Amino acid sequence: MSGSMSRRGALTAVLSVASAGTVLALGAASRAADVSSQLRKEDVRYQDQPKGNQRCAGCKNFVQPGACRVVSGSVNPSGWCLLFQAAAS
Ligand code: SF4
Repeated sequence: MSGSMSRRGALTAVLSVASAGTVLALGAASRAADVSSQLRKEDVRYQDQPKGNQRCAGCKNFVQPGACRVVSGSVNPSGWCLLFQAAAS
């Protein structure tokens, strides 16, 4: 009887670890998808300088303090790219 209980306990422990691993794997895949859905700076002609009066800090895609919803990596608040869209004022 106690042998049966310990086998059940071991099986439960194994399943718990497997479930935790699955959750971690799904989380990592989700983060990878987020990054891969963003565009590369070179593909949108990103530059670290503003273009006229257009700059990342005034773009609706800008995320404080230095990120972008659609372009991967860090962006300069004074930068610019082809996807600039003026934020609502
Ligand atoms: S100008 Fe381009 S890089 Fe800058 S915040 Fe807007 S979309 Fe992102």
